[in-house]
Amino acid sequence: MAQIIDGKAISQAVKDEIKSRTAELSAKGTEACLAVILVGEDPASQVYVKNKKKACEYCGIKSLSYELPADTTEEKLLELIAELNERSDVNGILVQLPLPKGIDEDRVLDAISPDKDVDGFHPVNVGKLSIGKKGFVSCTPAGVIQLLKRSGIEISGKECVVVGRSNIVGKPMSMLLLQENGTVTVCHSRTKDLKEVTKRADILVVAIGKPKFIDASYVKEGAVVIDVGIHRQDDGKLCGDVDYASVEPVASAITPVPGGVGPMTIAMLMYNCLASVDA
Ligand code: NDP
Repeated sequence: MAQIIDGKAISQAVKDEIKSRTAELSAKGTEACLAVILVGEDPASQVYVKNKKKACEYCGIKSLSYELPADTTEEKLLELIAELNERSDVNGILVQLPLPKGIDEDRVLDAISPDKDVDGFHPVNVGKLSIGKKGFVSCTPAGVIQLLKRSGIEISGKECVVVGRSNIVGKPMSMLLLQENGTVTVCHSRTKDLKEVTKRADILVVAIGKPKFIDASYVKEGAVVIDVGIHRQDDGKLCGDVDYASVEPVASAITPVPGGVGPMTIAMLMYNCLASVDA
């Protein structure tokens, strides 16, 4: 039986730590404030934004909400970001993705001050991560590291395989594992013999975006398996990129979906918001 890595409990612990630190800061007159910008009415984005605001409230972080119509121009959005960059009472700025067609996402994300980039997407923060300097780190991979550490799983010296090389998950994940002294291999859609590589992993992190793609035939006996994927199935239930029923019996530890990596993403966003004032 694999150890089930409980992302719900671990994310709650992280949020409680943040809550007690924001209370200490607030007693000294310092407050963290996150500005959340949503453009358009994408239902999934509305849910994500609602959950982020709820987490802010729980953690004692002030949130400002900017809900803009879908026909907002790129210029208007850039003006708002410039204004928030200047405001000394705003520490973090988050633009919910995806943005409506016609708005250049890269241009918008690059306009956020790196000092307020709590999503860790700005090229300056990505660069800092790659050279091991302090900066904001993309929340999902940062959450995976917390899941591993807080579950007592040693990373140093381990064969770590990351499947997926996206800018928000796969690449920063590989950098973080390297920083923790893992021996890291990154796989992608052009990897020749995926199974041969994933079967070497002591720690296998899967961020492919394909439901139940990784079954037991990709996994070494006793490996730790972290499933970043989230998919809504036809029956309404959620599943990951890993076929949980197949992999759980061979893994030594595994994250479930839901209740694994998912809750950690928002917890690490809160962590970044706190870090923006608690230097
Ligand atoms: P992307 O679609 O941006 O990237 C997918 C990656 O998987 C690409 O690098 C791609 O390779 C690689 N890939 C695709 N097919 C294969 C294959 N057959 N073999 C090997 N590699 C393959 O996805 P994201 O990184 O944004 O997200 C991955 C998953 O994680 C999704 O399910 C997403 O919903 C979920 N997610 C969950 C979050 C959370 O909070 N839990 C947050 C963010 C994402 P190539 O580069 O060659 O195309």
